[in-house]
Amino acid sequence: MARFSQCACGQSNQQCYRCAVEFVIHEIGWNPGCECFCQGKPFCGKGCGSIRDEWATAFAMADAPHAELARQRWISRGQILKTIWLCPVEGPAVDITDQVMSGRLLRSGESYGYLFEPDAQKAALALIDEVETDPISFDAALHLVSEEIRLGKAVPYALRDWVADVLVGKLKRPKLNGKYKSATEKRDRLIVQLIKDVMEATNLSPTSGRREHGQSACNAVADGLQLSRLQPDSYESIIKIWGRRKDLSGFNSLERV
Ligand SMILES: [Zn+2]
Ligand SMILES: [Zn+2]
Repeated sequence: MARFSQCACGQSNQQCYRCAVEFVIHEIGWNPGCECFCQGKPFCGKGCGSIRDEWATAFAMADAPHAELARQRWISRGQILKTIWLCPVEGPAVDITDQVMSGRLLRSGESYGYLFEPDAQKAALALIDEVETDPISFDAALHLVSEEIRLGKAVPYALRDWVADVLVGKLKRPKLNGKYKSATEKRDRLIVQLIKDVMEATNLSPTSGRREHGQSACNAVADGLQLSRLQPDSYESIIKIWGRRKDLSGFNSLERV
């Protein structure tokens, strides 16, 4: 029996629940029409596309033991501006990095593009203050050192004594104090945005009085995540995230994780 079949209404009905679930599956990156998807078989990777990068990263960060969170942490601690472009309304963007470095001011009427890259020295300096108290920063510093070693580079100066002590067991990973708040932050932001997008695309209400038996935007997201084999996939966990939408709106790619 098919686990999912595409809706035939062609989105002629703005309140169509099945179309809303399809929309969710699409947004995550899958093709809800692919046979593997409908039959619940292993994802074939051909017709069904693949999970979008931002979703893959966000869900990996939420997964224990949070190796992806640790990697993202060192990257976010070490961001430095590499390139800045001026983006005119028409025509191609112009690299103005050198001009800005030699004093060109940014003006409010212009729009710009930025490229940031992680810098190991900067990240090391930020992490050394946290490695004794924060287990994710401890892991992040180890990831950073391991990546530098793998590339044949020197261990960042700020972390040398520390990592030497860790290697011989003189220093241990600190114990967790409370919850890893930033572990689920990125994922929950994407979920809030997805609920809003579903509401815009379909006119469904955000929540339903019939809870998990309802047909609201939160139900559609829960069902879409379940069909995509991702957690959380229950109505109750999705409305909990929706309830925190004020704290979770907006994105900042330079945010510290
Ligand atoms: Zn439909
Ligand atoms: Zn497929």
